[in-house]
Amino acid sequence: MTGLSSEVDVAVIGAGAAGIGAARRLREAGMVSVVVLEARHRVGGRVHTIAPKGFPLDRGAEWLHSADRNPLSSIARSLGFSIHRRPPEWTTRLRRSGETIEAEAEWIALREAQSRARRQAAAEPADRSLASLLSPGGRWNPLLDATSTWGNGAELDRVSVKDNVRYEDSGTNWRLGEGYGRLIETLAEGLPMSREAPVSRVDHRGRQIRLETARGTVSAARAIVTVPTSIIAQEVMRFDPALPDKLAAAAGLPLGVDDKLFISLKGPIPGLEDGSYLVGSTTSRETMSYQVRPLDRPAVYCFCGGRFAAALEREGEGAMFDFAAGELTRLLGSDVRKRMAPLASTAWLQDPWARGSYSYALPGHADDRAVLAAPVDDRLFFAGEACSPNFFSTAHGAWLSGIAAAEAALASLRPAAADR
Ligand SMILES: Cc1cc2nc3c(=O)[nH]c(=O)nc-3n(C[C@H](O)[C@H](O)[C@H](O)COP(=O)(O)OP(=O)(O)OC[C@H]3O[C@@H](n4cnc5c(N)ncnc54)[C@H](O)[C@@H]3O)c2cc1C
Repeated sequence: MTGLSSEVDVAVIGAGAAGIGAARRLREAGMVSVVVLEARHRVGGRVHTIAPKGFPLDRGAEWLHSADRNPLSSIARSLGFSIHRRPPEWTTRLRRSGETIEAEAEWIALREAQSRARRQAAAEPADRSLASLLSPGGRWNPLLDATSTWGNGAELDRVSVKDNVRYEDSGTNWRLGEGYGRLIETLAEGLPMSREAPVSRVDHRGRQIRLETARGTVSAARAIVTVPTSIIAQEVMRFDPALPDKLAAAAGLPLGVDDKLFISLKGPIPGLEDGSYLVGSTTSRETMSYQVRPLDRPAVYCFCGGRFAAALEREGEGAMFDFAAGELTRLLGSDVRKRMAPLASTAWLQDPWARGSYSYALPGHADDRAVLAAPVDDRLFFAGEACSPNFFSTAHGAWLSGIAAAEAALASLRPAAADR
């Protein structure tokens, strides 16, 4: 492994937000040798900024969710990143989507009632799905389902109530002018890293852990696993001896599907404030959420999730664009069609090193996050968004889980270090 030691104190598997957070914490502590093993040619994982037309586009994480409690907010500020604090008007997008103000108020009240019902249901002994709280035939059920696919990556019938209410949302959401991916890239600078080194086997039979990668074998006293649950559940990376509890927990926490389409848009939309949000349809679960000219950029950001997004991914960018252009034309008038062209799109389910977007818990599997996060023999540690008890599915949840795993690994090494 050119330029890298093949024997280290701690190997971190995966250079996403969790892996970078872990590696930085280990480096800060000093005294331990570290290597980050990353499957891709780039760092960041599900946080990735591109700039095909000169302005940044976040293919994955974009929002500093719970920004007032998110440690990456102050880190970004200290590194000179520009922070946009304009709140996203997610709750008021119906009035621009063909609904009256009264209907929008009914929708907002229903969302609040659903939120109360979820908290009540979560206090019951048995877990159940979010869909079990719907009124049969309810007028807003399709939109509630679509909203679940945007938030959870999955329809309401797939999502655990108990897990869903554990997510902590402060309600403050900010964005970085330069892109979230650029922040994670900046934080990765200078870390000992081996790219294009997918780990296929974690052999923890002997005193040293042996990590088989496409670029050779690394021997480590400790390993921090930060790969997505899909990679564990589908056994793209295997443990030897097998870890059935981890396999089951990863399967209980599948990655949902969320995808983005970026459309270039010439000129403003008369009567529509820049940065406005729209919903393609308030009566179909197969619809997209749109932001028109976000951050004054000549673009529309389109977002879709769940089974609908999985199907669009398979059809490709052309199908995604046709769908979005159809919905936008219906809402904004036919003139807008000639001013739009596809700019970029994502296919996170087909991405071999993600295989999905972010984790949700299946009904009955809320406690799988703690099972997944638990260390094995105080030598194998686990991090990543799915391990976060309260900020799962986010980049800052991943980051914090990485720091926690690094601290646990350091604590486990201290007695050994004292013996030297
Ligand atoms: C469309 C979309 C929108 C999102 N929006 C937001 C948002 O606005 N705000 C927010 O906070 N979060 C958002 N998220 C979620 C956020 O991106 C993730 O929760 C977070 O980035 C996960 O970080 P992680 O380190 O746990 O995993 P990852 O980022 O997946 O990192 C794991 C790393 O492991 C690597 N890897 C995989 N297999 C192997 C292997 N066998 N060997 C070595 N390396 C391997 C991967 O390449 C990857 O780099 C979004 C995600 C998507 C897809």
